[in-house]
Amino acid sequence: MKQMIRKIIKLSLMIMISGFASQFSATASWAKTPEVSAIRIGHSGGKTRFVLDINQNIKFNIFTLANPNRVVIDISEVAWKSNFGGAKGKGYIDRYRYGLFKPGTSRIVLDVKGPVKVQKAFMIKPKRNKPYRFVIDLKKTSNQTFIKSIKKPSVRSVAKRAVTSPKKDLRSARKKKLIVIDPGHGGHDPGNLGGKGYRGFPEKTVVLSAAKTIQRELEKTGRYHVVMTRSHDVFVKLRNRSRIAHNKQADLFISIHADSFKSPKVRGATVYTLSEKASDKEAAAMAARENKSDIIAGMDLDEEIDIVQSILIDLVKRETMNLSSSFANELIPQLKKAVVLRTRPHRTAGLIVLKGLDVPSVLVELGYLTNSKDAKLMMQKETQKKIGKSIVKAADNFFNKTYVAN
Ligand SMILES: [Zn+2]
Repeated sequence: MKQMIRKIIKLSLMIMISGFASQFSATASWAKTPEVSAIRIGHSGGKTRFVLDINQNIKFNIFTLANPNRVVIDISEVAWKSNFGGAKGKGYIDRYRYGLFKPGTSRIVLDVKGPVKVQKAFMIKPKRNKPYRFVIDLKKTSNQTFIKSIKKPSVRSVAKRAVTSPKKDLRSARKKKLIVIDPGHGGHDPGNLGGKGYRGFPEKTVVLSAAKTIQRELEKTGRYHVVMTRSHDVFVKLRNRSRIAHNKQADLFISIHADSFKSPKVRGATVYTLSEKASDKEAAAMAARENKSDIIAGMDLDEEIDIVQSILIDLVKRETMNLSSSFANELIPQLKKAVVLRTRPHRTAGLIVLKGLDVPSVLVELGYLTNSKDAKLMMQKETQKKIGKSIVKAADNFFNKTYVAN
């Protein structure tokens, strides 16, 4: 136990360091459904300028985050006229990504090459055939100045949230088993990117398509009701995904992902369950990639501290962990009939999306987007249906054999 506590303290320190944030905000007048027609980046005179061309005025809020250094721009929900493709930056901006953060808010994340400061951010009114423009100017700053400008985290909220169990027993009142299907990533978080020839299909798109097919297969049986954590291209925080399953007292939680690897030869599906220690180096690296989702989003610190709380909760959820493993054991032989599996198909890792869950839960990496065969198959309806059917069979076996309510 002592060792566990030490681990938790270490982890919470790590989270705090990565959560240092500084705030810079301004507001322009509100408008409905604006459309971004262009994104432009320029660099001159030691200044990088990021510009959005928009047909209406928008609200914006900007903050910076360290480890890795990012500038996060939240704007009123906008439509993107086209896929502005090559998210490669210029000047101090290494790459950028954008998408719907939550209804009403779109988010742009600039990955910057070093510590920068937001020198100016403003709207320019339309002039001589030019639309509204949102402009942000970035200047290089020293690491020291950057660190100084960030707020010290408050630790007070650690003990605030009590571990509560749901009041009503929703499970026994239900006729059908409730399965929460969680398509990974979304919005400004594309997840892993495909290999050559598959760049247009980021993980967020592939897994949403697969998850919808899985949902249909499960519901078709009449035995299962499915709740999706997202059903369109929107960002959902990791802990909110598991919160959906917790609040609904789901019977099973399945997170759907697609992996990537430096070698395009590596292929196959893997089923992950939660553990304090990763089963191997590769599993640890995969968890680091998946857990980055909220860091990409620039989560606020209070919520990051809540994750530490979640870890405390899950230490007492041994039973859930055992049930999760039972489901993984049912799933693997079924999944084998639908797709190629990796050599050791059941692995374990410290996955945030599975933490704090009192619902049996697994994370399935359907295959590798960096492998052309896997990428092609994952996008095929036929394969998705096979995967759906394998989940149905595994769930049937699981609930018949092992499942004990509460
Ligand atoms: Zn993922």
